[in-house]
Amino acid sequence: MAYSYDNQNIFARILRGDIPCSKVHETAHTLAFNDIRPQAPHHVLVIPKGAYVNADHFARDASDAEIVDFTRCIGEICQSLGITPGDGGAGYRLITNSGDDGVQEVPHYHVHILGGRVLGRMLAKG
Ligand code: 5GP
Repeated sequence: MAYSYDNQNIFARILRGDIPCSKVHETAHTLAFNDIRPQAPHHVLVIPKGAYVNADHFARDASDAEIVDFTRCIGEICQSLGITPGDGGAGYRLITNSGDDGVQEVPHYHVHILGGRVLGRMLAKG
């Protein structure tokens, strides 16, 4: 399976610096910034700097270094937001939408970190 990456997608443009973002965290492989339409008091988007369309593309083609860095960034961001249950925080939710049924809006792999309030049940009906 070959993945087709659209390098004009909004997150590619953020990575190139063509449009601004509210940066939360950055490493060699990963960038995190606040969602422009937050769904919770904390709503951070974590994206790899590499050109990956979605979670399965990232799992298949990213290097071990990219995957480790991405995963550790999520943990560090949750810690810095004070929402990590292991450190007494109230918790959070990670979401990644993939493809049509996942209702993925931006075709560059990203994980949503949501927290700062009780988030309710995982899925609304319909
Ligand atoms: P998806 O539905 O693809 O999982 O989520 C895409 C997310 O990107 C949405 O939550 C949307 O609010 C966010 N988003 C879309 N355009 C921009 C933008 O230009 N800047 C930022 N920071 N977030 C964006």
